[in-house]
Amino acid sequence: MSSTPARGDWRRALVTGGAGFLGSHLCERLLDAGLLVDCADNLLSGNRENIAHLEETPGFRFVECDVSEPECVERLPGPYDLVLHFACPASPADYLRHPIQTLDVGSAGTRHALALAARDGARFLLASTSEVYGDPLVHPQREDYWGNVNPIGPRSVYDESKRFAEALVTAHASALGTDAGIVRLFNTYGPRMRGHDGRVVPTFIAQALGGEPLTVAGDGTQTRSLCFVDDTVDGVLLVAASRAVRPVNIGGGHEVSVLEIAEKILELTGSTSRIAFVERPADDPARRRPDTTLARELLRWQPSVDWEEGLKRTISAVVTTG
Ligand code: UDP
Repeated sequence: MSSTPARGDWRRALVTGGAGFLGSHLCERLLDAGLLVDCADNLLSGNRENIAHLEETPGFRFVECDVSEPECVERLPGPYDLVLHFACPASPADYLRHPIQTLDVGSAGTRHALALAARDGARFLLASTSEVYGDPLVHPQREDYWGNVNPIGPRSVYDESKRFAEALVTAHASALGTDAGIVRLFNTYGPRMRGHDGRVVPTFIAQALGGEPLTVAGDGTQTRSLCFVDDTVDGVLLVAASRAVRPVNIGGGHEVSVLEIAEKILELTGSTSRIAFVERPADDPARRRPDTTLARELLRWQPSVDWEEGLKRTISAVVTTG
């Protein structure tokens, strides 16, 4: 997609988690579209380097604060036309290291971000996740599937945080009339993921380039559907610019196994690393693929970057920036 979908009357946006992987791409695209952008981040899993190239851009402001804390709200005067709530550790390794903060940002953090949107009459968008479907029993996953989540399993801190956040957004919209939507994001990858953030693509790329074994969990037959970050950002901004209140899946349609991801990254990097099969994490979903009919019909969105091209771009960004 060539231009950034934005409502013509938007002047100022708030991106919580704006120094994260996805958040920083969103800040960039909103600035390109001519908006003023406040980026709020507590740098728990975000990184100032992700926004270093934006810090001198007129209209961009970084506010280091934790949206789960009430004082953060006081440091965000707005007024905002758009609030994108993207703050949350998203890698299983990160959210397992920070379980309470993960639950807090989905509950208190979402409440605070919604309050800002309601204060200013802004459009609000929650970054939700395919993890609300848990280890899905239906395939592919449509938005009306309720999911199969273990509420006390290790991943529950993330899954239930996002499920609660979805409930909060839905209640705000119906009880207070807040203009609020939800995107359910599936596995997104691309430049600016931390090499050791634990997620499959950056981990395998770092391992392949570093000559280390690629750590494939289990037998690697579990699947994911990868979506390149530019496509995800297009989808997010289209949902933001729409008046959609129900959740919308945004994700790649090409389902691949983890072993195929490892083999493709070995091929594209020319690495001679071997594959090491390691223990599979508890409750690791076996299959995941979005049904994106709603996004296609409602927003005419569909991913345009195939996974080989996306992986090449991601690898070359790692090689260039180190
Ligand atoms: N995975 C793997 N090796 C790694 C990291 C992840 O085999 O070093 C697997 C993980 O077990 C899962 C899939 O890759 O089956 C995707 O994991 P990721 O953490 O990227 O995201 P998830 O979809 O599980 O949230």
